[in-house]
Amino acid sequence: MTTTCTARAAYIPASRRTRTRVGTFDSVTRRYAVLDALAARHAATRRHALAKQLAAFRDAAGAEAKALELIETGGLISASRPGLYIAVSSDGTDTYLIDTDERSCTCQGHARTGHCYHYLAAIMAETRTAELIAA
Ligand SMILES: [Zn+2]
Repeated sequence: MTTTCTARAAYIPASRRTRTRVGTFDSVTRRYAVLDALAARHAATRRHALAKQLAAFRDAAGAEAKALELIETGGLISASRPGLYIAVSSDGTDTYLIDTDERSCTCQGHARTGHCYHYLAAIMAETRTAELIAA
């Protein structure tokens, strides 16, 4: 069974919203202001997490390129809940479970060093999504 978050689906990013409500609909505008602030804070949190991850790599540009390739080739898949992903290994023979809430990946590299490009790819994907919502 797939679980979806209906609260997220109902949120309309500010850039796509038409503000036709006036007067008596102030409460709606206020609610959107709260959601906009939350979206902006979430995007800032993701950007901070991404910068922190990139800083952990000796070759940040190389790791970023590998993570981007993983995303673009469909090797990073959202799993059963937000923050949980499945990544395919670079040789395509293994899969790893990434949990951005737990800051973990089941690959050997992450176990050894505390960072890997699978986890980086998940953070990059979350940052991109958060920035789209906040835009
Ligand atoms: Zn990993």
